[in-house]
Amino acid sequence: MNLYNIIVNLYKNFFSPQTCLNCGEICSGYICHNCAKKINKIKGNICSYCGSPLPKEIKPDSLCNFCKEKQFSFYKLRSFGTYEGLLKKAIISFKYNKIYSVSSELADLLKEMLFEHFSKEKIDFIEAVPDSDIIGNEEYVTYENNYKKIESSHMKLLASKLSESADIPFADNIIKIRKTFRQQMLNKNERLFNLKNVFKARNPLLYYRKNIMLIDDVVTTGSTINEIAHAMKRCMADKIFVMTLARVNI
Ligand SMILES: [Zn+2]
Ligand SMILES: [Zn+2]
Repeated sequence: MNLYNIIVNLYKNFFSPQTCLNCGEICSGYICHNCAKKINKIKGNICSYCGSPLPKEIKPDSLCNFCKEKQFSFYKLRSFGTYEGLLKKAIISFKYNKIYSVSSELADLLKEMLFEHFSKEKIDFIEAVPDSDIIGNEEYVTYENNYKKIESSHMKLLASKLSESADIPFADNIIKIRKTFRQQMLNKNERLFNLKNVFKARNPLLYYRKNIMLIDDVVTTGSTINEIAHAMKRCMADKIFVMTLARVNI
């Protein structure tokens, strides 16, 4: 950080100090220490495949009813917490209110999961679910006091942060090739049809025999991540792991 940025930072913090998204206390980041501890992490007995919480009485390493019936193209999915409370608030601030600075805290959650659930895996690339219907559109946003050119996808920003801190390259190789309806508006069959062949690799060779960590903000039925994993498999990718910040229990 150069001297100019340090002075701008001091000036900004003096007149409008950074406050916690949740409790409004002054803090160094966007979620204070106390509130960060309140994020409900999914732990204990979980489905060995999709990571959804299972009742205590079910024996460890079991599959949930959903996974027993379904075949996925990805290898293993884990989510940090359920989509509620502070985690939901932070995701909404980041995704819809475009408070991009909260990406550091959210990337830290992904990094924690990476160590906890995937430390034994060899991961070649990080990849992000493309969230925009606008292909190739770019915009300028204020980020850490600098104008940095980032693409309009909030997930790309998160993937870049994680890539930097975990030292795994961000592939940035998956694109959406046509517009889709919002998945939340559709029923189960419509959801599948809506996403059919919608994702494509810019460079199919990049995924060849590689293990990829796909990240997304929230998972509900898993149709989107599964469709992307399927597109990667068509490029002969090896294992596709998935991490999401939150999951909606259905
Ligand atoms: Zn707080
Ligand atoms: Zn499951």
